[in-house]
Amino acid sequence: MFQLPDLPYPYEALEPTISAATMRLHHDKHHARYVAVVNELVANNPAARGPLEALVKQAAIDGQRKLFNNAGQAWNHGFFWQSMTGEYRAPSGALLDAIVAAFGSLAALGSKFKEEGGGHFGSGWVWLVAKGSALAVTTTHDGEGVITEPGVTPLLVCDLWEHAYYLDHQNDRAGFLTGWWDRLANWSFAEQQYAAAAGAGSAWTYPAPNA
Ligand code: FE
Repeated sequence: MFQLPDLPYPYEALEPTISAATMRLHHDKHHARYVAVVNELVANNPAARGPLEALVKQAAIDGQRKLFNNAGQAWNHGFFWQSMTGEYRAPSGALLDAIVAAFGSLAALGSKFKEEGGGHFGSGWVWLVAKGSALAVTTTHDGEGVITEPGVTPLLVCDLWEHAYYLDHQNDRAGFLTGWWDRLANWSFAEQQYAAAAGAGSAWTYPAPNA
């Protein structure tokens, strides 16, 4: 059985950009539901004893859309919780160097991230990813993510589904993205992911299923 991982901080840690009410709904209801559907779909299936990453990739290959969407959403949300912190600090070191090389400045990357996320039509996700040592901003639709792309390591993601921001920001996705970028982006986590992309340490993985 795949588990719903606890948030790595209290529900209220991301206020005022994301309220405790949104976090309770988002984690305890939306994320929990994706995990529950995956478990229903893979009941009595030995593949469910392996990591969620493998299940997402196999579902994509097999064209099992319902399993892919729900497993993808379970993984993306686990990664999204890690992508945020209530104790913001700016990036530094090798990651900051790479940001300057790729985008010119942290502010320029922020503009691109908010532009891509704000312009994304419908539900989905906006990502900062590493392809080797190079950086890129990309968006995915619905339950799609980036772990199915060879050689790509996600560094940060922001949820663009309305359930992520509607209670707190109504239809103002741009305002949500600005608050998220300025106050919640977890650069400590992104730096670890970037190091992993270069072969130092391991990239984040979804908690392993229990038997
Ligand atoms: Fe979500």
